[in-house]
Amino acid sequence: MSEEDREPAPGRCVLVTGGSRGIGAACVSWFLANGDRVAYTARGPAERGDGSLGLVCDVTKPEQIEAAFAQVEERLGPVEVLVSNAGITRDTLIARMGEEVWGEVIDTNLTGSYRVARRAVTKMLRLHRGRIIFISSVGAFVGLPGQANYAASKAGLVGMARALAREVASRSITVNVVAPGLVATDMIEALAAERVEQMKGLVPLGRTATAEEIAAAVGFLASDGAGYITGAVLPVDGGMGMGL
Ligand code: NDP
Repeated sequence: MSEEDREPAPGRCVLVTGGSRGIGAACVSWFLANGDRVAYTARGPAERGDGSLGLVCDVTKPEQIEAAFAQVEERLGPVEVLVSNAGITRDTLIARMGEEVWGEVIDTNLTGSYRVARRAVTKMLRLHRGRIIFISSVGAFVGLPGQANYAASKAGLVGMARALAREVASRSITVNVVAPGLVATDMIEALAAERVEQMKGLVPLGRTATAEEIAAAVGFLASDGAGYITGAVLPVDGGMGMGL
C-alpha cells in the first residue's frame, strides 16, 4: 500500500518527556483520552499498558534522544506536540552548591529541553504545524531559597520559549510555557512536610495542585482553541506567583 492510500492515523503524535510519573504521566493520560497517539520517555524502562509508547531516554544523553525520536517517528509518525516536562531538583544553598549540582539541574531541565525542542522542531518546520510546551515552575519567578540552580533552569525556559516562538511562528508552530506551583507528585514528597506546609501558606488557593490540573492546562495549549497563543507563560499555581 502506498503512503497516499494509507488511512490517516487518528489524533496527533504527542511526545512527553518524563512521562513515567507525576505531571508527565498525567499529560500522557490527558492526550490518550483526547484520542492522540502518545509516546513518553523516562530514564528507566516503563510500560503503562494503555496504548502509549514508553521509551527509555535520558534527556541529558543526546544519542538517546535521537534514538527515541527515531522510534517515535517510525511507530507513530513525526512529533506534532512536544511536552518538555522531564525535570529534577537538587536543592541546596548557593554557598554549598558545587558546579556538579548546579550543572546537573541545568543539563536536565534547561539543556535537556533545548535538545528535545531542537530535534522536534526540525520535523515540525517541514509539517508547517506543531505545538511545543515547556514545563517551567513558579520557582522561576519567585526564586525560593535553596533553588538557585532550579530557578535559573526554569527561568531559562521562558527566554528560550520566547526566542523559539518567534523563530517558528511563520510555520504555524506555537511555543508556550506552563508554570506550575506546588503539585502533589514525588518531587514534593521528597521535601520535608514542614517545608511543604510552609509553601502551602504562600498559595492563595491554600492547597497543592493535582498533576491532572497541570495536564489540563498543557492540553489546552496544545488544542485548536489555543492556536493564537504563542510565547506565553501560563501560571497554574493557585495564585502563588502573582505577588502580594
Ligand atoms: P516527578 O519527580 O514526579 O517526575 C519527574 C519525571 O521526569 C519522571 O518521569 C522522571 O523519570 C523524569 N526525568 C527526570 N530526569 C530525567 C532525565 N534526565 N531524562 C528523562 N527523564 C527524566 O516530577 P513532577 O511530575 O513533579 O515534575 C515534572 C515537571 O514539572 C518537572 O520539570 C518539574 O520541575 C516541574 N514542576 C513540578 C512542580 C511540583 O510541585 N511537583 C512544580 C513546578 C514545576 P524517571 O525518574 O523515571 O527517569
